[in-house]
Amino acid sequence: MAITRRGVLTGAAAAGGLPLAHYNLCMPAYAADDDVVLGPPVKDQPIQKLSPHVYMVEAPDGFPTPENQGLMSNIVFVVGKQGVVVIDSGASLQIARMSIRQLQTISKAPVIGVFNTHYHGDHWLGNHGFVEAYGKDIPIYAMAGTRTAIEGGTGTSWRDAMLKWTNQASSGTRIIPPSKDVDHGFTLPLGDATLRVHHYGTAHTPFDIAIEVPEDEVMCVGDILMDRRIANMEDGSYQGTLDAIDKLIANSKTSVWVPAHGDSGVKVLEWQRSLFQGIFEACTKAVKQGIPLEGALAVALKDPRVADKAAETKGWANNIGKYVSIAYLEAEQAQF
Ligand SMILES: [Zn+2]
Repeated sequence: MAITRRGVLTGAAAAGGLPLAHYNLCMPAYAADDDVVLGPPVKDQPIQKLSPHVYMVEAPDGFPTPENQGLMSNIVFVVGKQGVVVIDSGASLQIARMSIRQLQTISKAPVIGVFNTHYHGDHWLGNHGFVEAYGKDIPIYAMAGTRTAIEGGTGTSWRDAMLKWTNQASSGTRIIPPSKDVDHGFTLPLGDATLRVHHYGTAHTPFDIAIEVPEDEVMCVGDILMDRRIANMEDGSYQGTLDAIDKLIANSKTSVWVPAHGDSGVKVLEWQRSLFQGIFEACTKAVKQGIPLEGALAVALKDPRVADKAAETKGWANNIGKYVSIAYLEAEQAQF
């Protein structure tokens, strides 16, 4: 049974005879909620070195469950002379705390900033853990549209959904929205490494950013590319994603693509591109031939670029139908 902070404080105050206020003054500004039972700690996942400055705590699973406590997306650290910057903070306070434990095994430098690549909760709910550990003034960078979504209903609906999916394991996680708006071209120098923001319109959401570390030829793409996983494309665009992929290639010298789900490397780019080309071209063909929406899935599944990926892809059965419907509607609109 987890112990609440309030329980701990009350006990300490009673034992030491100190007024509660003394303890409260010592609490960090963004401590966990003191009136909820905190979810349990998340089991350690090893930190991997991807390049001279870039490290990753990789999530083994693609979707949140009570067992994995919401660990479904990768947390990336860029370690430079001037400090450490986080790219996507995980899906809970507990996941962020676990990633900080891993970070501390490779660097004692402080985290001086966090980027959220877009507004899906597995990429920003962990912000709480970083402000708890490094102070409420560390900047949290995202596009303005990502910030306003998190400040609005998207923020609470993701926090509540994560509680439900994890059977309350993420309990105690507070919504800490981004604090600094960034856009395409923003750069953040860390001395020996630089973070450079790319944005090419709607891809996975209208406000995705990819973050390049040019010194290492690394591109952290958030959910613009995923490795053997399909999920939420409700706010995304197939053509937009294919266009963003072309521009990311044209405007960088990337050799290591780092997605928020799955393995980093070279393969993820071709995997995502061929799947999206397969689905979108099949849907375009269906629209041109007058095949209705209900028939589009069968057409898409005939394309080897789509069919060959079914067995290895997380979320396939639950998402492929909806995924193809969204592509079909987009293909239909593109005809007019
Ligand atoms: Zn996402």
